[in-house]
Amino acid sequence: MSSTAVSSTALSPVPSVIPRARPDSGLDAVIIGAGLIGLAVAWRAAQRGLRVALADPEPGSGASYAAAGMLAPVTEAHYGEERLLRLNLASARRYAAFAEELEQVAGTPSGYTARGTLAVAFSQDDRTALDELAAFHRRLGLESEPVDARGCRALEPLLSPQVQGGLHVAGDHQVDNRQLVAALLAAIGRVHVPLHRHPVTELLVVQGTAVGVRLATGEALYAERVVLAAGCRSGSLPGLPPGALPSIRPVKGQILRLSVTPGVAPFLGRAVRGLVRGAQVYLVPRDHGELVVGATVEELGFDAQVTAGGVYELLRGARELVPGISELPLTEAHAGLRPGTPDNAPVIGPTDLPGLIAATGHYRNGVLLTPVTADAVAQLLADGELPEEARGFEPQRFTAERASA
Ligand SMILES: Cc1cc2nc3c(=O)[nH]c(=O)nc-3n(C[C@H](O)[C@H](O)[C@H](O)COP(=O)(O)OP(=O)(O)OC[C@H]3O[C@@H](n4cnc5c(N)ncnc54)[C@H](O)[C@@H]3O)c2cc1C
Repeated sequence: MSSTAVSSTALSPVPSVIPRARPDSGLDAVIIGAGLIGLAVAWRAAQRGLRVALADPEPGSGASYAAAGMLAPVTEAHYGEERLLRLNLASARRYAAFAEELEQVAGTPSGYTARGTLAVAFSQDDRTALDELAAFHRRLGLESEPVDARGCRALEPLLSPQVQGGLHVAGDHQVDNRQLVAALLAAIGRVHVPLHRHPVTELLVVQGTAVGVRLATGEALYAERVVLAAGCRSGSLPGLPPGALPSIRPVKGQILRLSVTPGVAPFLGRAVRGLVRGAQVYLVPRDHGELVVGATVEELGFDAQVTAGGVYELLRGARELVPGISELPLTEAHAGLRPGTPDNAPVIGPTDLPGLIAATGHYRNGVLLTPVTADAVAQLLADGELPEEARGFEPQRFTAERASA
């Protein structure tokens, strides 16, 4: 693979004797991983005048490629995750402006749409679960509007008559994550961020400080700071000292793409999330005619196989909610690996290894959390401080928990 826009000062062969902790490369930061998180951090940091570089053999190929692109702080709210909810809401609030600015810089669509989300219940038990979710929303002051069965079908005429009712959440939006990756790639090109299309094979640590990375080519890329944004691979990078990051586990998600003939009346007007006899399934329409159906949640290590059982479960749930999907061509079945942490919230901020910053572990909300993470890490790189909204997500929260246990 080749490097694009590589700055000649940034690359140098690894010396056998390193004369000082960090040879001067002219880089403020090197970012490992060009998924949505790494790309957006690079863009925001470069906008602040920092000199940054990215390394990734296949930019945008990880979870950021697989995702459904729901921006759903409210319908994704879970008991015990109130701190994460605040971060999710902070990111959702800045999405429209982030997308607009990105489109202007990139000159390509961001894929953002401000359509709401309808969460529906299929059986009476599902209805009870949804009523509990509505009560949870009320306690937290979140905006969601109960809708009866008839109201659900008025909003989405193709829903099954068996749907018992739902919750309309106007503030839970969507973005086409693949268009967002493409726009961020264009944007970093506009601000001249070098993108090295090679894997990082080692984190370079000298005298207890992260000083750069070694690429698969054998070249070293030195920088003042290293930002680790390698998704579910973040925890297994050679050279990473034990304990610098909490465990980052891969959580498999199988996801399907169906095709709706363009020009035909929209199949669905908004994202529909369903509880079907206790199982979750969602359908997310795209303006260009795609219908995304997802997603499984499987703890199987680094296995990313699409399975007959996974595809069957997704299609069965989706067809029960929206019977008309049977007629649509199935155009893609894919599996991605979400980067999960022990408490399912991201790790953002300085690690115990001086020079190393974490921007990973975004689990099921990484598309949503892209703007807030990028702004937080860019501010940390520029000013040395995390903004208030990102505090509490530093990797040290796990060491503190272990110490007090
Ligand atoms: C099926 C599915 C559905 C999802 N749906 C949603 C959703 O609706 N809404 C939402 O907000 N989130 C969703 N998510 C979660 C979201 O996709 C992730 O949280 C987010 O994409 C994580 O972004 P990332 O940049 O951290 O990781 P990734 O996108 O995985 O990117 C990591 C990058 O690091 C690179 N890399 C790895 N190792 C190295 C190395 N050694 N050297 C250089 N580069 C390396 C990889 O090539 C990759 O490009 C979903 C995830 C899945 C799997």
